[in-house]
Amino acid sequence: MTEADSPSLSSLLDRTRIVLVETSHPGNIGAAARAMKTMGLRHLVLVKPKRFPAAEATARASGADNLLVAARVVDSLPEAVADCGLVFGTTARPRYLDLAITPPREAAEFAAQEAGEAPIAIVFGREQTGLTNEELLCCQRAIRIPTDASFSSLNLAQAVQICAYEWRLAAQTGSLPGPAEAELPATAAELAGLVDHAKRAMVRVDFFKPERPKRLPDRLARLVGGAHLRHTEVQILRGFLTAVEEALDEAGAP
Ligand code: SAH
Repeated sequence: MTEADSPSLSSLLDRTRIVLVETSHPGNIGAAARAMKTMGLRHLVLVKPKRFPAAEATARASGADNLLVAARVVDSLPEAVADCGLVFGTTARPRYLDLAITPPREAAEFAAQEAGEAPIAIVFGREQTGLTNEELLCCQRAIRIPTDASFSSLNLAQAVQICAYEWRLAAQTGSLPGPAEAELPATAAELAGLVDHAKRAMVRVDFFKPERPKRLPDRLARLVGGAHLRHTEVQILRGFLTAVEEALDEAGAP
């Protein structure tokens, strides 16, 4: 942040965290921190980094090592994004499950306008293999940086740089007033709770058979993740599921 940064600029950038999943090369972690700091992003979360802290990370951070010192290291992606109202997964592939894929500019504008006051995460995958399908199901939207069709995979820190730059531009353009309290987006933890609750209720009415799950769990997670549900909407659906469970209890159903 510089003295000239406006409150709306710092608000979007302050609410956004960069999450790096199982990064192999500590140099990439340092370079990502540098990319973030140049654009005014500060919050770095590392999911099971292969080597960290590491001298190579500090060297490549070139003065952004305060972000490395403050970085949170966690064991899983759900833990990294539990409190986020908006989670973007990044991918070099043109298609990822059925997630809506947008370029970073559109994603940043969406974040600036739709996320209210909620924390936002942008998730980056492993250098070799990217994000797993399960990890992508923790994300509500996917970001793909447009590239030449024959060579689409950027270096991890360079992908962070481009997204961070777009976040800064969107923040500078100024965000619309955020949604009212009741309109706040549901957090990732609330969405995961809704999916679990729906599965439990589905088992009880014999709609979902855990021993033969087929694609239902994935599709359900995608449906809930992609619906852009508000906090209050999740509460309505959880209330409905609880009423179904109570009715089954009263009827003496197993
Ligand atoms: N072979 C991997 C590429 C990994 S590149 C794959 O198929 O996904 C390491 C990470 O950098 C990716 O997981 C993603 O987070 C980011 N990245 C690389 N190129 C990207 C692009 N064109 N758009 C968005 N993110 C990209």
